[in-house]
Amino acid sequence: MKIGVLALQGSSEPHLQSLRNAGETPVAVRQLPHLDGLTHLVIPGGESTTLWHLMNLFGLWDEIRERHQAGRLALFGTCAGAILMGRDDGQYPPRWGVMDADVARNDYGRQSDSFTANLPLTGLDGGSFRCVFIRAPRFVRVGDELEVLAWNEQDPVLVRGPGFLAATFHPELTDDPSIHRLFMEVDPSLAHRLDSLPVTGR
Ligand code: GLN
Repeated sequence: MKIGVLALQGSSEPHLQSLRNAGETPVAVRQLPHLDGLTHLVIPGGESTTLWHLMNLFGLWDEIRERHQAGRLALFGTCAGAILMGRDDGQYPPRWGVMDADVARNDYGRQSDSFTANLPLTGLDGGSFRCVFIRAPRFVRVGDELEVLAWNEQDPVLVRGPGFLAATFHPELTDDPSIHRLFMEVDPSLAHRLDSLPVTGR
């Protein structure tokens, strides 16, 4: 297993540090050759439109989707990264459409409406996680094949699906590497295309 963090814009350095704390030796991904040999890739929070532009510019947008759908690269999208993984709804920026979920940008309000919450997390032995939401998106629908691992009131905030993990908060902004460890357990070979999957969910 080898893990990378997309490092074109946004919160990449804290993710690299969290992974080092979890005992990994992560790679900062800025160009195509950096993807070679990777089995896991974190798409950090930041600004989703900027991330989309920069990934296109560096030839990473299509390549990351193809590797994921071919079962070679597990993805962990956090905040802006989760937005990009959702179903493409024709809105800006375009989405990869690798995760059967609809993710609404800035749905908790403005930057000043950012908040933190201690939330129980499935798979964390009954412990809770300090979740930092920064101008966060909201999962407005999650497909039936997704497992919700954490909720904030009635909103899913951490989900696991075949070959991926996605969070609407910033797990890299705490000292707790347990969610990064959870990502290392995701099997990339389970990823599949969504093309023929009907839109279902809650
Ligand atoms: N508001 C940002 C966007 O829509 C996401 C914020 C974040 O990643 N913290 O792209």
